[in-house]
Amino acid sequence: MLVVQKYGGTSVADAERIRHVAGRVMRRVHAGDQVVVVVSAMGNRTDELIDLALSITPDPDPRELDMLLATGEQMSIALLAMALRALGQEAVGLTGQQAGIYTRADHGSGRIARVQAGRVRAELDCGRVPIVAGFQGATDEGDIVTLGRGGSDLTAVALAVALGADRCENCKDVEGVYTADPRLVPTARKLTDLTYEEMLELATQGSQVMHNRAVELASVYELPILVTSSLVDAPGTLIHGESELEERNRVRAIAHDTDVAKITIRRVPDRPGIAATIFEPLAAAGISVDTIVQNASEDNLTDLTFTISRKDLRRAESEMTGICRDVGAPGFVAAGELGKVSIVGVGIQTAPGYAARMFRALFNAGINIELISTSEIRLTCIIDAARVPDAVRALHEAFELERGD
Ligand code: ADP
Ligand code: ASP
Ligand code: MG
Repeated sequence: MLVVQKYGGTSVADAERIRHVAGRVMRRVHAGDQVVVVVSAMGNRTDELIDLALSITPDPDPRELDMLLATGEQMSIALLAMALRALGQEAVGLTGQQAGIYTRADHGSGRIARVQAGRVRAELDCGRVPIVAGFQGATDEGDIVTLGRGGSDLTAVALAVALGADRCENCKDVEGVYTADPRLVPTARKLTDLTYEEMLELATQGSQVMHNRAVELASVYELPILVTSSLVDAPGTLIHGESELEERNRVRAIAHDTDVAKITIRRVPDRPGIAATIFEPLAAAGISVDTIVQNASEDNLTDLTFTISRKDLRRAESEMTGICRDVGAPGFVAAGELGKVSIVGVGIQTAPGYAARMFRALFNAGINIELISTSEIRLTCIIDAARVPDAVRALHEAFELERGD
């Protein structure tokens, strides 16, 4: 079979782990599979490079920052290719551009426009293992563009789709997708499988185990993803289109995120067009808004609350003064230290009682709910960031997730 394997930063953190990954890849090739490898930067290298840039200037030029960050993945491809060659397996390191990953010039958050996988395919056909730098592509002019944090997952899925691979394997320091982050909940259980929808909700609600755009892309092309260990041989978690019948009516997993800020605009005159007046300037500033709640109006005045990522708070606040003036609101209040917990499972909303059970569990743990948002397969509560770990544990217990299927 043709498989694209992605190894994350922890899995290639040092020379020993790189040699370990090389051994795994080689065994897979010897077993008769065609393997394309995508790697992330070693350990925390990307964070270190960002800090380095910030020590030069608080506002690095986006093009040059991408140029710098891309070196992290470039180190990994060279080292892994050397390690494979040292084992006698031919391999070739390829940058995003050499692997034919083309993006628009949206530095720092590049979207893949197309993949021209000819070179990768040719290397495979010559018996060499292509080792591709994740998280990066290039514009038609040859400028390097990075795909956003965690973007190596996206590189792997995009390549797998372009090559018509049988599946993408996401190899990590955990053995699969668990019922909650095992770092927070030691009794969390590894799931056998998840639907694309479930994984997409988990990823979008903060579960860092997969990048949400990678899951979205895989779902469009119905590419199966196996989340599996890079360290031990153990069955992983298959993300695919089907769900077991008896799984339909239950909470599958809990996601959490401690990166939430909230802005409330007070006493907004309630008339058509206010929402557009508020959210258009935020969108133009590149700030994405998550949960939005508008209260019922009293005396034709309403309060409107929305959440954003904490990193966008300062920029959002600087837009708010003008926005308040334009909608005729007296002012706004901001809170920066929030988080969210979500329960996710296909069809939970068609079965009654999940919301009540979630709210009761949080209440019993003494946790105040600030805002609530839902989708067909998800319930999310915005709470104090400091209480997120307690909330995850309380929900894991309340929904009996430590129990087997
Ligand atoms: P990689 O280095 O492969 O990109 P990440 O560090 O991005 O890996 O993601 C793996 C981490 O995701 C794990 O160490 C784990 O703590 C965290 N995580 C969060 N939620 C989950 C979950 N539901 N199941 C497994 N891991 C999770
Ligand atoms: N190295 C990049 C990051 O840390 C991309 C990735 O690991 O997926 O965000
Ligand atoms: Mg990651």
